Amino acid sequence: MITLPRYLVTVAGEIPLRSNRTRPRFYRVLIENIKDAVERAGGRVVEIRIIDAKILLETNVDVEHTVARVFGVHKVGKVLEYEFRDLKELANWVSEHSRSIVQGKTFAVRVKRSGSHSFTSLDVAREIGSILKPYSAGVNLENPDVTINLEVRGSKAYLYLDSTKGPGGIPIGVEGSALVLFSGGYDSPVAAWLAAKRGIKIDFLHFLMGSTQSSYYAFNVAKFLASNWLYGYRPRFILVDLRDLILEITKKVEWRLRQVILRAVMYTIASKIADEIGYDALITGESIGQASSQTLKNLLAIEKAVKSTRIILRPLLGFDKEEIISLSRRIGLYDLSSKVTEACAIAPTRVETAASVKEVEEELGKIDLTVINKVLSTYKVFDLLKTTPGEIIPPDEIEIDFIPEEALVIDMRSENERLSKPIPNAIPIGSIDIKKLSKDKIIVLICETGSKSYFLARALREDGFKAYSLKGGVRGYCKLP
Ligand code: ATP
Ligand code: MG
Repeated sequence: MITLPRYLVTVAGEIPLRSNRTRPRFYRVLIENIKDAVERAGGRVVEIRIIDAKILLETNVDVEHTVARVFGVHKVGKVLEYEFRDLKELANWVSEHSRSIVQGKTFAVRVKRSGSHSFTSLDVAREIGSILKPYSAGVNLENPDVTINLEVRGSKAYLYLDSTKGPGGIPIGVEGSALVLFSGGYDSPVAAWLAAKRGIKIDFLHFLMGSTQSSYYAFNVAKFLASNWLYGYRPRFILVDLRDLILEITKKVEWRLRQVILRAVMYTIASKIADEIGYDALITGESIGQASSQTLKNLLAIEKAVKSTRIILRPLLGFDKEEIISLSRRIGLYDLSSKVTEACAIAPTRVETAASVKEVEEELGKIDLTVINKVLSTYKVFDLLKTTPGEIIPPDEIEIDFIPEEALVIDMRSENERLSKPIPNAIPIGSIDIKKLSKDKIIVLICETGSKSYFLARALREDGFKAYSLKGGVRGYCKLP
């Protein structure tokens, strides 16, 4: 007989403690999110129900590690289920399944029980212990090699075969929605994760500041979060092209205040979008004092000047950089985040650390409203789970400042040039028929200076190809290995 995987999910401690009014809603949302997680992992939920404070889950594929990434889950373990009549029968069943595990090892039996029985948890543990002892290296309650975990619920018993720790928190969707100002660096993704852990449905707001490469990798980070941690809804990635506004800031605002004004402009745009779409809050990866623009005085001045209609939450408020990095690793984001290069350095000299509200208001007042309005009327919303990273590269641009991972790279240089400075994975232009390539594939053309490739990319665009020219060619591109 083939048995389907069964799991017992222990919910995070605070959920069972909620009031009678709140608790059923939390469980309902958690169950929906677990279902979504199972389905996204390619499985199907055969059965899911609450038994006492736990959730029993039966699926058609192995989903333990997926369920261990659902917020609100404290622990998930694969279990065997058994319906028993008396203590003897129960102890025999457990022993039968545990004999090989305790062989040559010290062990302990831990039992949790609810329902009315003629025996206590300790009786069960003792009974199992005495049957298993001869097969083992002895009982050791303090520091056993293996632990046998058993849950007794009424006439049913569940024997854990293994278990994985979940993230805790509360289920996404019980706490409204927020827009995360998302750079994709180390901080804002961790801030996003922490907000989601507190039940908030988060979407991502990313500003394209100049480098398409940073935005491309920021998208990858958001997609990773959405695919691996954000269950129960379809997270969105909102892309705002801030380049014209940055130009406007560099034209009108004095050096000292540029970083502060940039931040104020980001808050302004984010608040407007939050109003329009209806988010409850804005979330940033700021932590007090981490950068010179993130002092309490600056943040206050910016918030007052911007008059945001949304609360701005900063989940990293009390975190050191090291703590943020170690969380980033635990979430699985570290490598992806490290690819997001520092995008914007429009104020390399001394920056203001104590701007006044008046100053910020004055400088903000210099920004041309039509530029702000244009930025606000052109933002794009992507369904993260359905979008590929290449799709967020602005389609009307022919030049690109990096090579997307999924691109087909075509080398237009002469054989001599190719041999003297090879480009990894590039195909010489003479060896393929470009017109036969798929029009869905991103093509990056590379020549010596970026001009021949520009003209060819433009011509290919007219024929419907997704062709780009590497900006500056081989000479201008420092990052070619
Ligand atoms: P991060 O590691 O999140 O990039 P940081 O330490 O580099 O943060 P800043 O670059 O000053 O600090 O950014 C502070 C916060 O401003 C970020 O955490 C993020 O919330 C927001 N932010 C910065 N750049 C962008 C961007 N390109 N798009 C959206 N939000 C941004
Ligand atoms: Mg940053």
